[in-house]
Formats: sequence, structure tokens, C-alpha cells
Amino acid sequence: MKNDYVCPNCRGFLNVEQNICFSAKTRDGKVGLIYLNPEVGNYNFIKHNSFDVKDGDQPEFYCPICNANLAAPELITKLSKVIMLENGKDEHEIIFSRVQGERCTYKIKGEKVVPFGEHASKYLSLLKYSK
Ligand SMILES: [Zn+2]
Repeated sequence: MKNDYVCPNCRGFLNVEQNICFSAKTRDGKVGLIYLNPEVGNYNFIKHNSFDVKDGDQPEFYCPICNANLAAPELITKLSKVIMLENGKDEHEIIFSRVQGERCTYKIKGEKVVPFGEHASKYLSLLKYSK
């Protein structure tokens, strides 16, 4: 059974087929849709060519259903948060960096933080002490 992803605000399903869909906006006002890979630790993503996001940009991620900002400001402003339902039911928080080119994701359940990605050490201490 596959994993589902829901918005922490409206609980709408964000994944369709093999993508997690977000609407996104950069600081300089560019907007577009970004589709992330639902496999935790897979950093492939797709977007329209006209949505020009460069390494180091920090687009805000929004729920495409309720338009909530998915930032996780209780941690650090560079991170966003969604809820993963592992195998369709077992709930985890997924925290990931919004910074383009930064590969770090954290799968969190209670006190347990599982890091993914080559840059995972960057925010790991913050997550541990935030609990
Ligand atoms: Zn929502």
C-alpha cells in the first residue's frame, strides 16, 4: 500500500498518482505549481518551465486546496510541513527544506526523528530540541 500526504490545515489529499502537488510563490513574486516525489528522500520534482526557481531560492509552499502556508515556523522559516499517512493510515509529520538544492527531509513521529538526504545534518539539532 502506498503513502498518502495530507495538508495539516484542511486534511485534503495532496498526492495525485506519483506526485505531491503544491502551489508555490517565490519572494520576488513568481508563482507556479511544484510536484514533489512521494518517496521520502527522493528529490526529483517537476514544474512548468516558466516557473523559474533557482538553487538557493526559498519558495513558500501552499496547500493547493485550502491555500494554507505550509511553513513550519515553529522550527525554522526554511522548512515546510505536511502530514504523511504511511500505508494509508500511520500518521507522521514530514518536514522538508524549501531551499532549492537543499536535500533534507525529516520523518517525525512523537520523539522519533528519521532524517533523509545529504544535507539532513543541517537542521537535525533544531528538530531534536524543538520536541
Ligand atoms: Zn489545505
